[in-house]
Amino acid sequence: MIPYGTAAEAEAALGRGLTPAEAAWFRYSAAMPDHWLLWHNTFILFLAHMVVPLPLALLERVAPAFAMRYKLQPRVRLSMAAVARYFGDTIRVFLLVLVPYQLISYPVVKVGGIRMGLPLPSVGEVAVQLVAYALVEDYLSYWIHRLLHTEWGYHKIHHVHHQVTAPTSFATSYSHWAEVAVFGVPTFAGPTIAPCHVVTHWLWFAVSIFEAISAHCGYNFPFDPTKLIPYHGGAEFHDYHHLVGRQSNSNFSSIFTYCDYIYGTDKGYKYYKANVAKVKAKLARNSTEREGRNGFSSTKLD
Ligand SMILES: [Zn+2]
Ligand SMILES: [Zn+2]
Repeated sequence: MIPYGTAAEAEAALGRGLTPAEAAWFRYSAAMPDHWLLWHNTFILFLAHMVVPLPLALLERVAPAFAMRYKLQPRVRLSMAAVARYFGDTIRVFLLVLVPYQLISYPVVKVGGIRMGLPLPSVGEVAVQLVAYALVEDYLSYWIHRLLHTEWGYHKIHHVHHQVTAPTSFATSYSHWAEVAVFGVPTFAGPTIAPCHVVTHWLWFAVSIFEAISAHCGYNFPFDPTKLIPYHGGAEFHDYHHLVGRQSNSNFSSIFTYCDYIYGTDKGYKYYKANVAKVKAKLARNSTEREGRNGFSSTKLD
C-alpha cells in the first residue's frame, strides 16, 4: 500500500511531479494491500497457463497450411484427448503447486524487499533487471535440468515431462509436481537476490512463462517475439530435447544457449542440425536437377 494519502503528498515526498505512469499506479494501488498486489502474479500465471496456449492448441486441431509450414514435427498430430490431458494436468499443477507457491512466496518477497510504492522504476532499470533475472534463471535451470537427467532424477521426476515427445503449448507445465516446484526456485532467485518493483516482478513472471510456452509450442514461427532475445534457444532448440528424450544429452538451457555451448551439451543438436541441412540441400539439388531435365526434354520436343 502506498504510504501517501493523496497524489499531492506523494509529489511532495518525491520532490517532483508524478509521471503519467506513476499517477496511474497511484490511482490503481494506493488503497490496495500489498498481498493483493503480489497476488496479481497468480492471475498472470493463470492467464499465461490457460489462455495463451489455447490458440496454439487449436492450431494442432485445425492445422492450417500457413502454420503447418512452421511445425517442428509435422508428421505428429496430437489428438484432442492428448491436448485435454495436458490441459487437465496444467490445471492440477496450477492449483496444487503454483497457487501455494505464491502464498508462501509472500513473506519471502516482502523480506527480500520487493517495492510496491513510488517511484516507479525507469525503463532502463526494468530492462537491466529483466536481463539479470533471465541470466540467473537460465544458469540455475540449466544445472537443475542436468540433475534431472541423472538416473535418479529422470526416473523419479523428469520422465513425466519427457512423456511429451512432440511438444505442444499445454504441455509446458506437464511435469511431476516436484519438477514444477523446483523450477520455481530459479524464477524467484533473481528478484530475491536483486529486489525490484512489483511491476517488474509481474513483468518478469509474464516474460518467463511466455518464453516457456513459446519453447514448447511445437512451431518455429518467424514472428515469435522471443526470437528477439540474443542467443535465444527457443522452440526448435527445446523441441529437439523432447524429440530425443531420455537419451538427450543436449539442450538443457531454458532461455539462452550459452550454457550448452560452454559445457559442450549442444553437440548432439549441432550434429542433428547439420544432418538436416544436408538432407534438405540434397532434396533441393535433386528437385533442381529434375526440373532441369524436364525443361531440357520439353525444349527437345518443341
Ligand atoms: Zn529434459
Ligand atoms: Zn520441456
